[in-house]
This record gives sequence, structure tokens and C-alpha cells, in this order.
Amino acid sequence: MKTLEKLYEGKAKQVMATDDPHRIIIHYKDDATAFNNIKKATILNKGILSNAISTLIFRHLEANGIPTHYIDTLNERDQLCKKVQVFPIEVVVRNVIAGSMARQLGLVEGHEPKNTIYDICYKNDELGDPLMNDHQAVALELVTYEELAEIYQLAGRINEVLKELFRKINIKLVDFKVEFGKTEEGAIVLADELSPDTCRLWDSETGEKLDHDRFRRDLGGVREAYEEILRRLESSTK
Ligand code: UDP
Repeated sequence: MKTLEKLYEGKAKQVMATDDPHRIIIHYKDDATAFNNIKKATILNKGILSNAISTLIFRHLEANGIPTHYIDTLNERDQLCKKVQVFPIEVVVRNVIAGSMARQLGLVEGHEPKNTIYDICYKNDELGDPLMNDHQAVALELVTYEELAEIYQLAGRINEVLKELFRKINIKLVDFKVEFGKTEEGAIVLADELSPDTCRLWDSETGEKLDHDRFRRDLGGVREAYEEILRRLESSTK
């Protein structure tokens, strides 16, 4: 497998073409950003940790019947994935109130509602990834109602599998963001990554934040938190 030109560079990753037109390589960088790129830093080895964590999570999801773009992990920073057309929407799944939902609705972080909350946001940096509803997403032709139904169903299944995975390692899965893509065969699969960059993970006993909020909120110990998540995941998925 040969790495060819860069197709896309995001905040924390690069996407490279390969000599197989159906496959891409995702390269994990050490860059951390927050607030739509206003706050930036480099955290040594964050890319290595996120790649390792995302690898374990994607393998676990595949083993539990969730279709994903993941094929293989090539080295410390690179994953081989199926080339998919990513829908320009982010799906946020919330089990516990935190972050933007707490801010927007004037709620206290940490409340656990009886239902699971699903948000969709328009992936558009210029607009700051605004929250939108299903009808708006369909009107903008980002996705169809049928595709959205399948996406919500997959997001719900992913939530069930991940809640259980994290429960076993004493982590509360507060919320997370996922992205979906369409394969050349027309199947909808989970794409992007799942790591402490894209999930809120709180220690079940102490409530300590073990995710990207340590960076966003200047709590320190970002790398140590990612290392802790990797250590616990490795011990449970062995
Ligand atoms: N999230 C993400 N990328 C984004 C926005 C959010 O991965 O561009 C994740 C975030 O880490 C959290 C969840 O989605 O786990 C919900 O984030 P929220 O809407 O509360 O936004 P924030 O507090 O980051 O403004």
C-alpha cells in the first residue's frame, strides 16, 4: 500500500490517498484545537494515543456488528480505511447533559435525562458547525430522510455498545460526536474517529474528566487523561 497525495487536512488528522482508489490512510496528528480553531496547541503523542484508542473502539464496534470504514491500523499514527463519501453532518449523542446543550438551555452539567438526546450539526467551519434539525439538513440536501433514519438507528446502536464498553472500565460515556459516510456500494458506515477528542468521558467514581475538555477548559493533564483511557481500554479488550 503506497501513500499518495494529501486529500484533506483537518484539525487533528490528515487524509491521504493511496494507490488503491477505494482506500485512504488517516494520519493522526498531535494538534489540539477548540472553539472552532481559536485555541490551538500541540500535545506530544496525542495523535498516537487517539489512533490507538480509536483503533480499539472501531474494532470493538465492528465485533458488535456496527459497519465502519475501518480496515486496519498500519502504525502508531496511521489507519487504513475505506474511502467513503462523508455526510456533511455531525451527529452528537448525549447520555448526560454537558457542554453546548447545558450552555444553550441553561442547564447544570451532569444531569442524566431519561431519554437519549441526538443533535445534528452542519459541518461548516465558516458558520461554526451550527446545530440544525432534520428538515433543514434534508432541505440543504446534505442527507435524505431515509438516510437520517438509518444514521440515527446506527448512532443509537453505537451508543449502547460504547456505554457498556466504558461502563466496564468505570467510565461514564457522557456524550460523543460521530460522522457517517456512504461506501461505493451505497452502505452507510461509521467514519471519522472515536477518541477522547470526540467523546466526553468521566470517571464513574470521581467524576474526573478524562477527555478533550481538559484542553478546552485548561484543566491540565490532557495527555495523562488520554493515556488513562487507553490503559483501561487495553485492560478490558485484551
Ligand atoms: N464534539 C466533537 N467535535 C465538534 C463538536 C463536538 O467531537 O466539533 C464532541 C465533543 O467532544 C463532545 C460532544 O461532541 O463529546 C458534544 O459537544 P458539545 O455540543 O457539547 O460542544 P462543546 O461543549 O464542545 O462546545
